[in-house]
Amino acid sequence: MTEWAGGELADNVEAVALAHLMEAARDAMGRAYAPYSGFPVGAAVLADDGTTFLGVNVENASYPLAVCAERTAVGTAVAAGARRLLAVAVASRGEPPATPCGGCRQVLAEFNPNLVVLVGGPSGPWTRYTLDQLLPHPFLHGGAAHGV
Ligand SMILES: [Zn+2]
Repeated sequence: MTEWAGGELADNVEAVALAHLMEAARDAMGRAYAPYSGFPVGAAVLADDGTTFLGVNVENASYPLAVCAERTAVGTAVAAGARRLLAVAVASRGEPPATPCGGCRQVLAEFNPNLVVLVGGPSGPWTRYTLDQLLPHPFLHGGAAHGV
């Protein structure tokens, strides 16, 4: 069973790495495919080996098939072999900037229930949360959060 360091792990994530992560999310936002909502979102996840993976929201003419930026970033990370995530940055033009939706909070919790979550707009300061603040008591049943 993998031991999640939680807050300790989060505290060790360098501020500089988080700044770069937010910049990566902001950059990705410009490549979102959001012709229906007009609400582009970019996400960047930081894996425990220091690698950053990007995601954008990808909409579809069949609206319910849209996928959030956070989930496309997680998919990219997992496809590359990542299983432990340290942080995610989410950039949008929302006011206030959008936090991950409920579904994405659950998906992120699979890979670290205590993930650092940064949310920000296209520029300027961002807000820092931990995932357990946004999603206390996630559904965890085996899986990556348990070292599977
Ligand atoms: Zn979402």
